[in-house]
Amino acid sequence: MYPAAFRYYRAATLEEAASILSQAGDEARPLAGGQSLIPLMKLRLVRPALLVDLNSIPGLSSIKSEQGVVRIGALARHAQLADSELSQLIPILHDCAAGIADAQVRSRGTIGGSLAEADPSGDWAPVMLALSAEVRTQNSKQQRTIALGDFLKDAYTTALANGELVREVAVKVPAKNSGGAYIAFKRCASVYASASAAVQLTMADRSTCEQAHIYLGCVGLVPLHATAAEAELRGRELTKERISAAAEAAMEAAAPHSDMRGSAEYKKVLVKHVVKKGLEVSLRRSRGEQVEVSHEYVGRI
Ligand SMILES: Cc1cc2nc3c(=O)[nH]c(=O)nc-3n(C[C@H](O)[C@H](O)[C@H](O)COP(=O)(O)OP(=O)(O)OC[C@H]3O[C@@H](n4cnc5c(N)ncnc54)[C@H](O)[C@@H]3O)c2cc1C
Repeated sequence: MYPAAFRYYRAATLEEAASILSQAGDEARPLAGGQSLIPLMKLRLVRPALLVDLNSIPGLSSIKSEQGVVRIGALARHAQLADSELSQLIPILHDCAAGIADAQVRSRGTIGGSLAEADPSGDWAPVMLALSAEVRTQNSKQQRTIALGDFLKDAYTTALANGELVREVAVKVPAKNSGGAYIAFKRCASVYASASAAVQLTMADRSTCEQAHIYLGCVGLVPLHATAAEAELRGRELTKERISAAAEAAMEAAAPHSDMRGSAEYKKVLVKHVVKKGLEVSLRRSRGEQVEVSHEYVGRI
Protein backbone atom coordinates (compact mmCIF):
# COMPACT_ATOMS: atom_id res chain seq x y z
CA MET A 1 0.00 0.00 0.00
CA TYR A 2 1.16 3.56 -0.69
CA PRO A 3 1.41 6.02 2.21
CA ALA A 4 -1.03 8.93 2.41
CA ALA A 5 0.27 12.09 0.70
CA PHE A 6 2.90 14.05 2.64
CA ARG A 7 5.26 16.97 2.16
CA TYR A 8 8.99 16.35 2.28
CA TYR A 9 11.76 18.62 3.58
CA ARG A 10 15.48 17.78 3.52
CA ALA A 11 17.10 19.45 6.55
CA ALA A 12 20.65 20.83 6.35
CA THR A 13 21.31 20.91 10.11
CA LEU A 14 19.81 19.24 13.16
CA GLU A 15 18.88 22.65 14.58
CA GLU A 16 16.95 23.46 11.38
CA ALA A 17 15.19 20.08 11.50
CA ALA A 18 14.26 20.67 15.16
CA SER A 19 12.94 24.15 14.39
CA ILE A 20 10.73 22.96 11.51
CA LEU A 21 9.45 20.04 13.57
CA SER A 22 8.59 22.24 16.52
CA GLN A 23 6.66 24.67 14.28
CA ALA A 24 4.75 21.82 12.57
CA GLY A 25 3.91 20.00 15.86
CA ASP A 26 2.16 16.61 15.64
CA GLU A 27 1.76 16.99 11.87
CA ALA A 28 5.45 16.27 11.22
CA ARG A 29 7.93 13.43 11.80
CA PRO A 30 11.70 13.22 11.40
CA LEU A 31 12.87 10.60 8.91
CA ALA A 32 16.06 8.62 9.59
CA GLY A 33 16.45 5.14 8.04
CA GLY A 34 12.70 4.86 7.47
CA GLN A 35 12.74 1.17 8.44
CA SER A 36 10.06 1.61 11.10
CA LEU A 37 8.38 4.82 9.97
CA ILE A 38 7.84 4.03 6.28
CA PRO A 39 6.20 0.60 6.87
CA LEU A 40 3.84 2.28 9.39
CA MET A 41 3.04 4.99 6.85
CA LYS A 42 2.39 2.38 4.16
CA LEU A 43 -0.02 0.62 6.50
CA ARG A 44 -1.52 4.09 7.18
CA LEU A 45 -1.05 3.58 10.91
CA VAL A 46 0.71 6.95 10.91
CA ARG A 47 -0.04 9.76 8.45
CA PRO A 48 2.44 12.61 8.93
CA ALA A 49 1.67 15.64 6.77
CA LEU A 50 5.40 16.48 6.66
CA LEU A 51 8.56 14.37 6.74
CA VAL A 52 11.77 16.14 7.77
CA ASP A 53 14.62 14.09 6.36
CA LEU A 54 17.75 13.95 8.55
CA ASN A 55 19.83 11.94 6.07
CA SER A 56 21.74 14.87 4.51
CA ILE A 57 22.87 16.42 7.80
CA PRO A 58 26.68 16.32 7.85
CA GLY A 59 28.45 14.55 10.71
CA LEU A 60 25.33 12.91 12.14
CA SER A 61 26.51 9.35 11.42
CA SER A 62 29.99 9.57 12.91
CA ILE A 63 31.23 7.01 15.44
CA LYS A 64 34.20 8.27 17.45
CA SER A 65 36.00 7.73 20.73
CA GLU A 66 36.97 10.73 22.86
CA GLN A 67 38.58 10.40 26.29
CA GLY A 68 37.19 6.96 26.98
CA VAL A 69 33.70 7.74 25.67
CA VAL A 70 32.32 6.35 22.42
CA ARG A 71 30.02 8.87 20.74
CA ILE A 72 27.65 7.41 18.16
CA GLY A 73 25.84 9.85 15.90
CA ALA A 74 22.06 9.37 15.70
CA LEU A 75 22.29 8.53 12.00
CA ALA A 76 24.89 5.75 12.39
CA ARG A 77 23.46 2.72 10.57
CA HIS A 78 23.31 -0.73 12.17
CA ALA A 79 25.66 -2.06 9.44
CA GLN A 80 28.11 0.79 10.04
CA LEU A 81 28.16 -0.10 13.74
CA ALA A 82 28.65 -3.79 12.97
CA ASP A 83 31.71 -2.93 10.85
CA SER A 84 33.13 -0.25 13.14
CA GLU A 85 36.48 -0.81 14.88
CA LEU A 86 34.92 0.63 18.04
CA SER A 87 32.37 -2.16 18.04
CA GLN A 88 35.26 -4.63 18.02
CA LEU A 89 36.50 -2.82 21.14
CA ILE A 90 33.05 -3.17 22.78
CA PRO A 91 31.89 -6.57 21.50
CA ILE A 92 28.32 -6.26 22.81
CA LEU A 93 27.80 -3.49 20.20
CA HIS A 94 28.90 -5.84 17.44
CA ASP A 95 26.74 -8.72 18.80
CA CYS A 96 23.71 -6.45 18.53
CA ALA A 97 24.35 -4.57 15.28
CA ALA A 98 25.45 -7.53 13.17
CA GLY A 99 22.27 -9.54 13.84
CA ILE A 100 19.51 -6.94 13.46
CA ALA A 101 17.00 -8.06 10.82
CA ASP A 102 18.63 -8.50 7.39
CA ALA A 103 21.27 -6.72 5.30
CA GLN A 104 18.79 -4.27 3.79
CA VAL A 105 17.40 -3.16 7.16
CA ARG A 106 20.90 -2.97 8.67
CA SER A 107 22.15 -0.78 5.84
CA ARG A 108 19.35 1.79 6.31
CA GLY A 109 18.22 1.57 9.97
CA THR A 110 19.89 3.91 12.47
CA ILE A 111 20.62 3.80 16.17
CA GLY A 112 18.88 7.15 16.74
CA GLY A 113 15.74 6.00 14.94
CA SER A 114 15.79 2.74 16.83
CA LEU A 115 15.97 4.37 20.29
CA ALA A 116 13.47 7.10 19.33
CA GLU A 117 11.02 4.43 18.13
CA ALA A 118 11.28 2.70 21.57
CA ASP A 119 9.88 -0.54 20.19
CA PRO A 120 9.73 -2.98 23.15
CA SER A 121 11.27 -5.63 20.88
CA GLY A 122 14.07 -3.43 19.52
CA ASP A 123 17.58 -4.75 20.01
CA TRP A 124 19.48 -1.55 20.86
CA ALA A 125 17.74 -0.46 24.07
CA PRO A 126 18.74 -3.41 26.31
CA VAL A 127 22.31 -3.27 25.00
CA MET A 128 22.65 0.46 25.56
CA LEU A 129 21.08 0.18 29.03
CA ALA A 130 23.62 -2.52 29.98
CA LEU A 131 26.32 -0.03 28.94
CA SER A 132 24.66 2.80 30.96
CA ALA A 133 24.33 4.89 27.79
CA GLU A 134 23.30 8.52 27.68
CA VAL A 135 21.28 10.12 24.89
CA ARG A 136 22.25 13.65 23.78
CA THR A 137 19.27 15.49 22.32
CA GLN A 138 18.89 18.72 20.39
CA ASN A 139 16.06 21.16 19.90
CA SER A 140 16.24 24.35 17.83
CA LYS A 141 18.15 26.16 20.60
CA GLN A 142 19.89 23.77 22.96
CA GLN A 143 21.09 20.29 23.79
CA ARG A 144 20.43 18.11 26.82
CA THR A 145 21.79 14.78 28.05
CA ILE A 146 19.41 12.11 29.33
CA ALA A 147 20.30 8.74 30.86
CA LEU A 148 18.79 6.11 28.56
CA GLY A 149 16.78 4.67 31.48
CA ASP A 150 15.03 8.05 31.81
CA PHE A 151 14.75 8.53 28.03
CA LEU A 152 12.69 5.33 27.56
CA LYS A 153 9.35 6.09 29.20
CA ASP A 154 7.11 3.32 27.90
CA ALA A 155 6.48 1.26 24.76
CA TYR A 156 6.88 3.65 21.80
CA THR A 157 7.20 6.58 24.22
CA THR A 158 10.34 8.56 25.04
CA ALA A 159 11.30 11.70 26.92
CA LEU A 160 11.69 13.61 23.62
CA ALA A 161 9.65 16.82 23.58
CA ASN A 162 8.01 18.28 20.49
CA GLY A 163 10.79 19.43 18.15
CA GLU A 164 13.52 17.60 20.06
CA LEU A 165 15.75 15.11 18.25
CA VAL A 166 18.30 12.46 19.18
CA ARG A 167 21.73 13.87 18.33
CA GLU A 168 24.02 11.11 19.64
CA VAL A 169 24.31 8.18 21.99
CA ALA A 170 27.32 8.07 24.31
CA VAL A 171 28.78 5.07 26.16
CA LYS A 172 31.88 4.83 28.33
CA VAL A 173 34.44 2.34 27.02
CA PRO A 174 34.20 -0.54 29.53
CA ALA A 175 37.27 -1.23 31.67
CA LYS A 176 39.74 -3.98 30.67
CA ASN A 177 38.39 -6.29 33.39
CA SER A 178 34.91 -6.00 31.88
CA GLY A 179 33.10 -8.19 29.36
CA GLY A 180 29.67 -8.05 27.80
CA ALA A 181 27.45 -9.94 25.40
CA TYR A 182 24.06 -9.61 23.72
CA ILE A 183 22.09 -12.75 22.93
CA ALA A 184 18.80 -12.42 21.04
CA PHE A 185 16.69 -15.44 20.19
CA LYS A 186 14.66 -15.10 16.97
CA ARG A 187 12.34 -17.22 14.86
CA CYS A 188 14.26 -16.20 11.74
CA ALA A 189 16.59 -13.41 10.61
CA SER A 190 14.17 -10.72 9.47
CA VAL A 191 11.92 -10.68 12.55
CA TYR A 192 12.26 -9.21 16.02
CA ALA A 193 13.52 -11.43 18.87
CA SER A 194 11.23 -13.54 21.06
CA ALA A 195 13.53 -12.80 24.02
CA SER A 196 16.93 -11.20 24.45
CA ALA A 197 19.48 -10.41 27.14
CA ALA A 198 22.20 -7.80 27.30
CA VAL A 199 24.88 -8.47 29.92
CA GLN A 200 27.88 -6.40 30.96
CA LEU A 201 30.09 -7.72 33.77
CA THR A 202 32.94 -5.96 35.54
CA MET A 203 35.19 -8.41 37.35
CA ALA A 204 37.25 -7.87 40.53
CA ASP A 205 39.54 -10.71 39.43
CA ARG A 206 39.31 -13.69 37.05
CA SER A 207 36.32 -15.20 38.81
CA THR A 208 34.82 -12.68 41.24
CA CYS A 209 32.15 -10.34 39.93
CA GLU A 210 32.40 -6.72 41.00
CA GLN A 211 29.42 -5.33 39.05
CA ALA A 212 26.80 -6.85 36.75
CA HIS A 213 24.33 -5.15 34.44
CA ILE A 214 21.60 -7.34 32.96
CA TYR A 215 18.67 -6.09 30.84
CA LEU A 216 16.05 -8.26 29.18
CA GLY A 217 14.44 -7.39 25.86
CA CYS A 218 10.98 -8.31 24.48
CA VAL A 219 9.49 -9.31 27.85
CA GLY A 220 7.99 -5.97 28.88
CA LEU A 221 6.99 -2.57 27.56
CA VAL A 222 10.56 -1.34 28.11
CA PRO A 223 13.67 -3.48 28.70
CA LEU A 224 13.45 -5.22 32.09
CA HIS A 225 16.28 -4.51 34.52
CA ALA A 226 17.07 -7.94 36.01
CA THR A 227 18.13 -6.65 39.45
CA ALA A 228 17.63 -9.96 41.30
CA ALA A 229 19.88 -11.72 38.77
CA GLU A 230 22.52 -8.99 39.21
CA ALA A 231 22.36 -9.39 43.00
CA GLU A 232 23.06 -13.13 42.61
CA LEU A 233 26.39 -12.23 40.99
CA ARG A 234 27.68 -9.07 42.67
CA GLY A 235 30.68 -9.73 44.92
CA ARG A 236 30.53 -13.45 44.25
CA GLU A 237 32.57 -16.06 42.42
CA LEU A 238 31.00 -16.82 39.04
CA THR A 239 30.77 -20.59 39.23
CA LYS A 240 28.51 -22.57 36.88
CA GLU A 241 26.00 -22.87 39.71
CA ARG A 242 26.07 -19.09 40.37
CA ILE A 243 25.49 -18.34 36.69
CA SER A 244 22.58 -20.80 36.59
CA ALA A 245 21.09 -19.22 39.73
CA ALA A 246 21.28 -15.76 38.12
CA ALA A 247 19.64 -17.06 34.94
CA GLU A 248 16.86 -18.60 37.07
CA ALA A 249 16.38 -15.27 38.89
CA ALA A 250 16.08 -13.45 35.55
CA MET A 251 13.53 -16.00 34.36
CA GLU A 252 11.48 -15.53 37.55
CA ALA A 253 11.49 -11.74 37.08
CA ALA A 254 10.32 -11.88 33.46
CA ALA A 255 6.56 -11.63 32.86
CA PRO A 256 6.23 -11.90 29.08
CA HIS A 257 2.95 -12.09 27.19
CA SER A 258 2.05 -14.82 24.74
CA ASP A 259 2.00 -13.60 21.15
CA MET A 260 3.01 -14.65 17.65
CA ARG A 261 6.64 -14.82 18.84
CA GLY A 262 5.88 -17.56 21.39
CA SER A 263 3.92 -18.41 24.50
CA ALA A 264 4.70 -16.72 27.81
CA GLU A 265 6.09 -20.04 29.16
CA TYR A 266 8.32 -20.51 26.13
CA LYS A 267 9.68 -16.95 26.40
CA LYS A 268 10.51 -17.49 30.09
CA VAL A 269 12.60 -20.53 29.15
CA LEU A 270 14.28 -18.46 26.44
CA VAL A 271 15.11 -15.76 29.01
CA LYS A 272 16.93 -18.33 31.13
CA HIS A 273 18.87 -19.51 28.09
CA VAL A 274 19.88 -16.07 26.79
CA VAL A 275 20.92 -14.81 30.24
CA LYS A 276 22.98 -17.93 30.96
CA LYS A 277 24.73 -17.75 27.61
CA GLY A 278 25.21 -13.98 27.91
CA LEU A 279 26.87 -14.45 31.31
CA GLU A 280 29.13 -17.26 30.11
CA VAL A 281 30.29 -15.26 27.08
CA SER A 282 30.72 -12.05 29.11
CA LEU A 283 32.88 -13.88 31.67
CA ARG A 284 35.13 -15.32 28.95
CA ARG A 285 35.43 -11.93 27.28
CA SER A 286 36.31 -10.27 30.61
CA ARG A 287 39.31 -12.63 30.68
CA GLY A 288 40.43 -11.38 27.27
CA GLU A 289 39.10 -14.32 25.22
CA GLN A 290 37.79 -13.52 21.74
CA VAL A 291 34.33 -15.08 21.60
CA GLU A 292 32.07 -14.65 18.59
CA VAL A 293 28.33 -14.74 19.15
CA SER A 294 25.43 -13.81 16.95
CA HIS A 295 21.67 -13.68 17.25
CA GLU A 296 20.26 -17.19 17.60
CA TYR A 297 17.50 -18.73 15.51
CA VAL A 298 14.93 -21.47 16.14
CA GLY A 299 16.54 -24.89 15.77
CA ARG A 300 20.05 -23.52 16.29
CA ILE A 301 20.40 -23.28 20.13
C1 LIG B 1 11.66 -6.24 8.28
C2 LIG B 1 12.22 -5.48 9.45
C3 LIG B 1 12.76 -6.17 10.50
C4 LIG B 1 13.29 -5.50 11.59
N1 LIG B 1 13.85 -6.22 12.60
C5 LIG B 1 14.43 -5.59 13.63
C6 LIG B 1 15.06 -6.32 14.67
O1 LIG B 1 15.13 -7.54 14.67
N2 LIG B 1 15.60 -5.61 15.70
C7 LIG B 1 15.57 -4.24 15.74
O2 LIG B 1 16.08 -3.65 16.69
N3 LIG B 1 14.98 -3.54 14.77
C8 LIG B 1 14.42 -4.16 13.72
N4 LIG B 1 13.81 -3.44 12.73
C9 LIG B 1 13.72 -1.96 12.87
C10 LIG B 1 14.98 -1.29 12.40
O3 LIG B 1 16.05 -1.55 13.28
C11 LIG B 1 14.77 0.21 12.30
O4 LIG B 1 15.88 0.66 11.62
C12 LIG B 1 14.68 1.00 13.57
O5 LIG B 1 13.73 0.58 14.48
C13 LIG B 1 14.31 2.46 13.30
O6 LIG B 1 15.39 3.11 12.79
P1 LIG B 1 15.25 4.01 11.49
O7 LIG B 1 16.53 4.75 11.38
O8 LIG B 1 14.84 3.17 10.36
O9 LIG B 1 14.13 5.04 11.95
P2 LIG B 1 12.87 5.62 11.19
O10 LIG B 1 11.99 4.52 10.72
O11 LIG B 1 13.29 6.63 10.20
O12 LIG B 1 12.18 6.38 12.42
C14 LIG B 1 11.62 5.67 13.51
C15 LIG B 1 10.96 6.68 14.46
O13 LIG B 1 11.93 7.47 15.12
C16 LIG B 1 11.82 8.86 14.76
N5 LIG B 1 13.20 9.31 14.59
C17 LIG B 1 14.11 8.87 13.70
N6 LIG B 1 15.30 9.44 13.91
C18 LIG B 1 15.13 10.28 14.96
C19 LIG B 1 16.01 11.16 15.68
N7 LIG B 1 17.32 11.29 15.36
N8 LIG B 1 15.51 11.86 16.71
C20 LIG B 1 14.21 11.73 17.06
N9 LIG B 1 13.34 10.92 16.44
C21 LIG B 1 13.80 10.19 15.40
C22 LIG B 1 10.96 8.88 13.50
O14 LIG B 1 10.23 10.06 13.35
C23 LIG B 1 10.05 7.68 13.74
O15 LIG B 1 9.00 8.04 14.60
C24 LIG B 1 13.27 -4.08 11.64
C25 LIG B 1 12.70 -3.36 10.56
C26 LIG B 1 12.18 -4.05 9.49
C27 LIG B 1 11.60 -3.27 8.35
